[in-house]
Amino acid sequence: MAVTEVAQSRRVVTEIPGPKSRELQERRVAAVAKGVGSVLPVYVTRAGGGIIEDVDGNALIDFGSGIAVTNVGNADPRVVERSAEQLGRFTHTCFMVNPYEAYVEVCEALNRITPGDHEKRSILLNSGAEAVENAVKIARSATGRQAVVVFDHAYHGRTNLTMALTAKNMPYKQGFGPFAGEVHRMPMAYPYRWPTGPENCGPEAAAMVIDQITKQIGADNVAAVVIEPIQGEGGFIEPAPGFLPAIVEFCRANGIVFVADEVQTGFARTGDMFACDHEGVVPDLITTAKGIAGGLPLAAVTGRAELMDAVHGGGLGGTYGGNPTACAAASASLEAIESDDLVGRAREIGDLMLGRLRKLAEEHPVIGDVRGRGAMIAIELVEEDGTPAPKVLAEVLSYCHSQGLVLLSAGTYGNVIRMLPPLVIGDDLLNEGLDILADAFARL
Ligand SMILES: *Cc1c(COP(=O)(O)O)cnc(C)c1O
Repeated sequence: MAVTEVAQSRRVVTEIPGPKSRELQERRVAAVAKGVGSVLPVYVTRAGGGIIEDVDGNALIDFGSGIAVTNVGNADPRVVERSAEQLGRFTHTCFMVNPYEAYVEVCEALNRITPGDHEKRSILLNSGAEAVENAVKIARSATGRQAVVVFDHAYHGRTNLTMALTAKNMPYKQGFGPFAGEVHRMPMAYPYRWPTGPENCGPEAAAMVIDQITKQIGADNVAAVVIEPIQGEGGFIEPAPGFLPAIVEFCRANGIVFVADEVQTGFARTGDMFACDHEGVVPDLITTAKGIAGGLPLAAVTGRAELMDAVHGGGLGGTYGGNPTACAAASASLEAIESDDLVGRAREIGDLMLGRLRKLAEEHPVIGDVRGRGAMIAIELVEEDGTPAPKVLAEVLSYCHSQGLVLLSAGTYGNVIRMLPPLVIGDDLLNEGLDILADAFARL
């Protein structure tokens, strides 16, 4: 595991946010557009392992990883060293003008570690949204079809096409239309809220989706089905067993490109290298970003060679896509994930968290569901009648933040607390964070 200079202990020496953070926040309000929010406006100076240090001298426990990005931890020395070495040689040529090895190396690694042993190709981009957009472009070009199928609670990004693919209006879409056409939304296999119970959810949801695609769109018109194998922003909804394999089978039988959006679930996060691995699902195309490069901006589409190569020369690309420094960081980060067995570590984290959270749920009926895999764990908060409890969530989050625990929310109904610790966090910090969360429920 990476050695880090950042002391691995929580330290709260001021109110949170402290005076210096509040001062910076005032400057920010005057300089930064209001549309960009921050969950917890403490201003960061340094971070590593499971700790984020702020300008006031506080050290916070990180249960967010910058939204599932710093899987290998912040400023992992191997990532820093490789990036710095690359930065010192050249910063940019544009891969579309003069190529370089670092880009090819990342594509080779992605082709090797993503699900399936078929022949693959990859393309590198800057953001998750850009990856999803490109996956749709590739699927349309390869199939000559236009329709795209997405799901309830889906999140795929903030660009025009990916807003259309995203389910939740507020805050992602409100006022930003018109949206891209030929996007069709289907029911999601959401076990906790499935009307006939979780055990029926997988097969019933799959049958509904297949029926709706057939009746409403026509399978022959569908270029791609795009789905997160565990939904992220939507509330860590893990589709009921059997749902994904049934959808894949339907896609295969009908020439539809199955796109797994693993932007949030990828790179050991869920206790498998990719969340698709859990049920042996092999996507035709897979989109990745967040956890790929230890915090540097990079994204990718990886997929079947015959689909990826169906696009005409010059049809894909972008000025910065596969920036050399980001590629160097990705190579170092992917090596760290494999050599440190972060897949195994994510499973340990999941066992620890699920065990403690299930106990907590027994004591507090407001915790209606505990779910997730690996280091991607959530609790869904509900009233006695099962309706979402977003106000309780706000109280719990606010207490945790005040105690120096960085914790995020999610969910279509704003009632899901999601936990995404860096995979290099120690058990002591993990337990301390969960103690704070338990206190928050005890105080309600
Ligand atoms: C975050 C996310 C995106 C968008 O990624 P950006 O890098 O923010 O554009 C797309 N899909 C999923 C599943 C995500 O979690």
